Amino acid sequence: ASMRDSRIKKTKTVCTYCGVGCSFEVWTKGRHILKVEPSEEAPVNGVSTCVKGKWGWDFVNSQERLTKPLIRQGDEFVEATWDEAMNYIAHHLGSVKEQFGPDSIGYIASSKCSNEENFIFQKFARAVMGTNNVDNCARYCQTPASKALLRTVGYGGDSGTIQDIQSAGLVIIIGANTAESHPVLATRIKRAHKLHGQKLIVSDLRTNEMAERADIHLHPKHSTDLIWLNAVTKYIIDQGWEAREYIQQRVNGYDEFVQSLQKYTLEFAEETTGISKETLIQVATMIHESDSTCILWAMGVTQHKGGTDTSTAICNLQLVTGNFGKPGTGAYPLRGHNNVQGACDFGTQPNVFPGYESVEDDEIRGRYERAWGVELPKHTGYNNHEMVDAIMEGKIKAMYLFGEDMALVDANANLVDEAFSKLQFFIVQDVFFSRTARYADVILPAAPSLEKDGTFTNTERRIQRFYQVFEPMGDSKPDWEIIQMVANAMGANWNYKHPSEIMDEASVLAPLFAGVSYERLEGWNSQVWPVQLDGTDTPLLYQDSFNFPDGKAKLFPVDWTPPHAYDQQYDLHINNGRLLEHFHEGNMTYQSEGLKHKAPRAWLEVSPELAIERGISDGAIVRLTSPEGSIKLPVLVTNRVKGNELYLPMNTDSRNEAINFLTSSDHDQVTDTPNYKETAVSMEVLSYD
Ligand code: SF4
Repeated sequence: ASMRDSRIKKTKTVCTYCGVGCSFEVWTKGRHILKVEPSEEAPVNGVSTCVKGKWGWDFVNSQERLTKPLIRQGDEFVEATWDEAMNYIAHHLGSVKEQFGPDSIGYIASSKCSNEENFIFQKFARAVMGTNNVDNCARYCQTPASKALLRTVGYGGDSGTIQDIQSAGLVIIIGANTAESHPVLATRIKRAHKLHGQKLIVSDLRTNEMAERADIHLHPKHSTDLIWLNAVTKYIIDQGWEAREYIQQRVNGYDEFVQSLQKYTLEFAEETTGISKETLIQVATMIHESDSTCILWAMGVTQHKGGTDTSTAICNLQLVTGNFGKPGTGAYPLRGHNNVQGACDFGTQPNVFPGYESVEDDEIRGRYERAWGVELPKHTGYNNHEMVDAIMEGKIKAMYLFGEDMALVDANANLVDEAFSKLQFFIVQDVFFSRTARYADVILPAAPSLEKDGTFTNTERRIQRFYQVFEPMGDSKPDWEIIQMVANAMGANWNYKHPSEIMDEASVLAPLFAGVSYERLEGWNSQVWPVQLDGTDTPLLYQDSFNFPDGKAKLFPVDWTPPHAYDQQYDLHINNGRLLEHFHEGNMTYQSEGLKHKAPRAWLEVSPELAIERGISDGAIVRLTSPEGSIKLPVLVTNRVKGNELYLPMNTDSRNEAINFLTSSDHDQVTDTPNYKETAVSMEVLSYD
C-alpha cells in the first residue's frame, strides 16, 4: 500500500468557484485527479464542500485548453512561440501607445486570478504603461456594495466572518440565491436555523431554496428593496427601537438621516413594494427582538440602477440598530467569484491603488512613485463600462484582458461585440478559447489555479494560500509570469521569481496588508485583512471604531430610483441568477463532464399562471426579445416564479441562450454596474411543448 500511496500527491488548494473560499486537499497521481479531500483544519469550510468544489476540476485536463500562444492572421489564429508573441505585442501595443498615448489602452483584470496577479497587472497598467484604465469584473457585480460600505462604515468588505453569520440571532438575505451561489455558507445558515433557533428572512423575487426555508419570505415587486428597507428603518425609529446610545457615540448624520426617511411610511412601502404593512412590522419587530442581525446580499440588490443606494440602505439599517462591530452582526455582500474581493483589494480598479487608496491623492501616489521609480498617472481611469463606450468613441484603441469572458458577461453583449471588433489591437489571456478570444489579435495561454502558486481572498476578507499541483499544460504559463513577460516586452525590467515576492511588495506598499506574508499563510493558515505589521488580523471589523478619521460611521440618506416602466411591447420582467452546478459563464464548468451532465443547458422559468395564459408547458420553445436583442430557449413551468416574472440561469455556454443578449447598457448611477436585473422582454412562443 505504501508504494501506491507514495505516488499519490496531496496538495492544498482553495476552491475557485465562489467567494466562500473553501479549501481542501487535491489528491493526484500524475495528471489524474483522484479526489478532493476537505480537512477539519480548513478555516472556512472544515469538512464540507459543494458539488463544484468536489467535482469541478477535470477542466484542467481538457483537450480544449489553450496550450500555445496564438497570433491572428486574417480570420485564422496561428500557433506561435512565446518570443514571437512577445515581439508581436511589443510592436503593436507599443505603437498604439506611441501614436495615441497611454490612456488609449484599457486593461481588464480577472477576479478568478490571484491577488498577486492582480497586483502586478495594475502595476503594469500604471507604472509601465502610464494609465489608470484598469478594472475587473467586480464592476459587474459588487462594486455598488463596496461603494455603500465605503460611504457608511469605511471598509469595502464584509464586516465580519462566516462564523458571525452562523452565530447571528437573525439573518436577512436580500437578492441572493445563497443555496446555489454560496452553497457551503448556505449550509451554515440552514443548520443554525434548523438547530439553533436562528431566524431567517429572505427577500427575493423568486422562491429559491432559502426563501422556502425562511421564517418570512418577502416578495417585493422588482427593484423596490430600497423602499421596504427604508420603511422598516423608519418604523424602527418611530417605535423608539433605534440603538440610541450606539448612534450617539459612534454614528454621524442621524438627524438628517431621520429627515430623509419621511416619505418611507408603511403605507407608501405597501403600495410600491406590494409587501403588506403587517409583514413589514413583523420584519421590524424581528430585528428589534434579535440581539444580533446580519444582512447578506448579492446581485439581486446591486445590479440595478439604484444598486449602490439600496446597498447603502442596508448599511443604514444596520447602523440604526447597532448591528456593526459586535459578534454576529454586520453587512455582508456575498462575493461571487473566488477572488472578486482580492482583485479589488489588490488595486485592479481605476480609482484606487491596492488597499483602496486613492490614485488622486498626492501623498499616496508619491509612495508608489518612489517605490516604483516612475511618475504615475494622476487621474482616475476608465472603468470597464466606460472602456466599452470609449472604444465606440475611438478613444480606446487597444486592450489587454486576462481571465475574463467580457463578451459574454458584460451586459448588452451585442454592443460589446461591436466594440471589440473595433479595437486595433487586443490581447486576450485565458485558459480556454473564450467568446472574447474570437476578437483577439494575440491569445496567450494561461494556467489555472491548480498549475500555479498564489493567494485568493474570500468574501470574508480572508487571504488563503493555494499551492501548485501540476505543471502548466503545454506552453501555458501562470498569469503572473505572462504579465511579467508582457511588462518586460514593454520595457520593464521585472524579475519576480515567485508570487511570494509580489505579495512582499504589496504588503510594504499597502498598509491594509502590512503583516501579510507567505510564511504566515503557510498550509491551512489564513489572514483576514486589515493585517497589522505584527501579523494581527481582523476577522470582525469596527469593534472600536469605523474606518473614518473620527472613527464614526456615517448614515447616508438614499432615495429610491424607479425602474423602467413596462410597456405593452415588453410586458414581462426577466430576472437571472446562478445554478448550483455551474460557475459564471460556464467556460470552466461546462468543460467538466460531471457538471455538464447534471445541468447540460439553460432553461427559462415561467410561472404556472403565465404558462396557462400563454398556453405553454414544460419544453415549449420561446423567443425572448428586448430592445437590445433576442434569445431562444426551452421553458420550465415552476411556482418558484410568480406572475409576469421570468427567470433565466445566467450560466450557459450557448450564445443563443445567454441573458446578456437581452440586457441593456443601463447602469447603476453611482458605480456604472450594469442593471442586469431590470430587463423587460416580450415572449413569443415558437413551439408549444
Ligand atoms: Fe467552492 Fe463555493 Fe462550493 Fe465552497 S461553496 S466548494 S468555495 S463553490
